[in-house]
Amino acid sequence: MIGNVLKKVFGSKNERELNKLKPVVEQINALEPEMQALSDDQLRAKTQALKERIDKGATLDELLPEAFAVVREASVRTLKMRHFDVQLIGGIVLHQGKIAEMKTGEGKTLAATLSAYLNALTGRGVHVVTVNDYLARRDTEWMGSIYHFLGLSVATVVHGLDDSQRQEAYNADITYGTNNEFGFDYLRDNMKFALESIVQREPHYAIVDEVDSILIDEARTPLIISGPVEQAGDRLYEEVKPQVIKLKQNQDRIMRTMLDEVLKGLEEEGEADGVLELLLKVKRGDPKSPRFLDLIAKRPGLKKKLEKLEGQLSTEKLLPQIDQDLFCTIDENQNLVELTEKGLKLIYGGHADDYIVPDLDEELQKIDEDDRLTSMEKRIQGRKAEAFYREASERFHVTRQLIKAYWLFNKDVQYVVKDGQVVIVDEFTGRMMPGRRWSDGLHQAVEAKEGVTVAEENQTLATITFQNYFRMYDKLAGMTGTADTEAAEFKKIYDLDVIVIPTNEPMIRLDYPDVIYKTEAEKFKAAVEEIKQLHNNGQPVLVGTISIEKSENLSQMLTKVRVKHEVLNAKNHEREAEIVAMAGQKGHVTISTNMAGRGTDIVLGEGVKKLGGLHIIGTERHESRRVDNQLRGRSGRQGDQGSSRFYLSMEDDLLRIFGGERMSSIMERLGMEEGEPIEHGMISKAIENAQRKVESHNFEIRKQLLKYDDVMNQQREVIYKQRREALTGKSLKPAIEDMIRGLSERIADGFADEKVLPEEWDWKGIRAATYLQFGLHLKMDRDTMDGLTRDGLAESTFESAMKTYEEKEATFGAEEFRQLEQTIVLQVVDNLWKEHLLAMDHLKEGIGLRGYAQQDPLVVYKKEGYEMFMDMIERIKEETVRFLFRVQIARPEKMVAREKNKQDQLVYSHDGEVARQPVRRSKKKVGRNQPCPCGSGKKYKKCCGR
Ligand code: ADP
Ligand code: MG
Repeated sequence: MIGNVLKKVFGSKNERELNKLKPVVEQINALEPEMQALSDDQLRAKTQALKERIDKGATLDELLPEAFAVVREASVRTLKMRHFDVQLIGGIVLHQGKIAEMKTGEGKTLAATLSAYLNALTGRGVHVVTVNDYLARRDTEWMGSIYHFLGLSVATVVHGLDDSQRQEAYNADITYGTNNEFGFDYLRDNMKFALESIVQREPHYAIVDEVDSILIDEARTPLIISGPVEQAGDRLYEEVKPQVIKLKQNQDRIMRTMLDEVLKGLEEEGEADGVLELLLKVKRGDPKSPRFLDLIAKRPGLKKKLEKLEGQLSTEKLLPQIDQDLFCTIDENQNLVELTEKGLKLIYGGHADDYIVPDLDEELQKIDEDDRLTSMEKRIQGRKAEAFYREASERFHVTRQLIKAYWLFNKDVQYVVKDGQVVIVDEFTGRMMPGRRWSDGLHQAVEAKEGVTVAEENQTLATITFQNYFRMYDKLAGMTGTADTEAAEFKKIYDLDVIVIPTNEPMIRLDYPDVIYKTEAEKFKAAVEEIKQLHNNGQPVLVGTISIEKSENLSQMLTKVRVKHEVLNAKNHEREAEIVAMAGQKGHVTISTNMAGRGTDIVLGEGVKKLGGLHIIGTERHESRRVDNQLRGRSGRQGDQGSSRFYLSMEDDLLRIFGGERMSSIMERLGMEEGEPIEHGMISKAIENAQRKVESHNFEIRKQLLKYDDVMNQQREVIYKQRREALTGKSLKPAIEDMIRGLSERIADGFADEKVLPEEWDWKGIRAATYLQFGLHLKMDRDTMDGLTRDGLAESTFESAMKTYEEKEATFGAEEFRQLEQTIVLQVVDNLWKEHLLAMDHLKEGIGLRGYAQQDPLVVYKKEGYEMFMDMIERIKEETVRFLFRVQIARPEKMVAREKNKQDQLVYSHDGEVARQPVRRSKKKVGRNQPCPCGSGKKYKKCCGR
């Protein structure tokens, strides 16, 4: 209340920000007549003139009004669109490195040209990031007219380009592309073996379109490049599968008996404690069982009681007692599965004690302290323990992934099986993502479940989160129709402010309150009824669903009542944009998953305004309010007529899982009849609360991911920087010399105890170490030995090693030897870094498993991760020198070729999925008559090659 009054007095922060921009807009407008008076050539010459002023020290802020006026005039002449004032504001906000919230259809694509042009004047490159390749191409071509007119180059990076095409695209003034392309190119660049093949320039300025989708939804999982692991673990899935099936059969049987008992109990004694406890077991054992869901839906109060009981038992630490009758427990909410004692016994055939992944550290320590063992035996036993540990943890991991596959992943919802392959269905767009794979063995598990060929497992070679990728830009900006609900996250993670920009025309869409039914069937029946009525009137309807399965059900229902419609889902996504674009035509009914066709403009057909414009029907609420707003936003663009309504049921996941007590009690209070909807402000409020809960839960997950990645990020920066330096071609000789010195010192430190006479030092050890490290047979006559100090030993080792080093250099020839050094350093770094990534993964997983009682897992991860990293740095030195001293005549070219061969097997993944993307390496230049690499479809000479 008070907040509102204060806002009225002072204006909100947003209004104040907007007010500050008004004078700039006026300045731009004032320049318009001047620009209109220029000839095309004169207008184009402005670009050069502005660039020169930058060279003379003018700031971009100073140039902004003129540059924007130039772009606006160029747009009028090329695209016949004159940037609206609100688009100018959007442009300024983008230039300031903030997020411009501009509703769907307000023309964000055009607004971005202003700031892209201004910032490209620096010559340092501007990236415009889109949600898919289709939009990257569309926007390059569409907005390309303006840039070309003004003499700037523009290009697209899309799937399937080779390095030289990518280089060219990145050298353009403005580059359009998807977040995945930009991110993977960054990672790939840091795996390159020659400076010339690096494609990206220093990250300068990025404008991220649909910024919430990219920086929030897609940021839940990192980008990963992986390659095949040396030893394949895929047979494990086949091996464990029968046991998991057995587990499921057993669990299902218990579930059936328990449910029977629950039903009987409910009849005889009502919701007594014993009955509830039994029902809780069912919930923990199979939360998605249709019978269970049915029961819960029929008795709204029951769910509340169950949750209360679960919460209570959880705080009292009594849940294990509930779980002891089960084989495994499933937490749908957190996507977690756990084997119980009983389940472990079943899977591991009675030796439940052996099941637990052994604590390797403890094991190794025991071996180490065992005096009966010689050092050789200790080493052998240590290896054995490690191998056992690896096998046990892999088996454990595979088992859990299979359980998830069986209980939580459903065919035709999360994935489809097509041509013998498991194809992921995108949760947000409902599109099939062929070639993408879930990571961490989940995809293999689903493959095993569906009986299709289980693909090889891959190992991470490079990885980064979007958060850390986009933070590298000097300046970051974004635009979307829906940012405000996530303003806090943008601020905290990316330090991005959100400015809400008013619409060009007032928004007149009618958003009706939600209607809510008891069951899903009733809900869909009602929705179909409404669609049919509107359709008969000729009003276009766009229906949002949350999964393919649901959209297909709905489609069947509509077919039954003879309503002609288009379905937009996995099976015809090529035509996605086309279909969405037509959704506003008279009489069109379009079923689409919630986010499908983002970025495509829906223009109303003739006479549709009179009918009330496009009507949106949501058939379920998404976890995030933002996604619902996206769906709604498809209607009412540019002051169009329009309306929207969501149909919900008590059986919807959101209400079921997160609705909580409040929802149930409201429902009870209001009373609910079969087929009768409830439409009440209180419910909308309760749903919003549920969504807020999920949103903040998801934010927590992303924050956590980021905290872990931050540890990795520092390490990645060090390694990538070192790697880049090795690539620059500067001589590595001084660095190698330092390594040799350091290693010589280390040998001396290890063996030369100055408290005893030199002849009593462990000379066997010294000789072995020198031989291992430098391939040197240390010769030492008595006399030298007698007066030797620790420093003397170090110095003489160093000198002998340097002598060998120089000799080697002479045999190879200095130039060739420098090359060799470079290749070896890069290979060693890459190899150890890869191992380190794996070790860090294990560390993270292990911390979870070990469940540190008192310590914060993140702190442990940081500390141990740091130690491992320092260890790796030492090993890089050791191995580089060891390799170098051993290498005979191995042509570096050959090694490079071998490395490149490996690149063909790389797999690119994101969002827990993996995309196989063979790297094409034709070094061909683009011919003048060939299609332009920017993807415009025009000939190269007519497009970017002009
Ligand atoms: P958004 O990305 O904000 O949803 P788009 O960039 O797809 O919107 O543009 C929506 C529609 O508005 C497009 O058809 C575009 O041609 C049109 N449009 C944008 N700006 C203008 C303008 N200044 N004048 C006329 N039409 C415009
Ligand atoms: Mg757009």
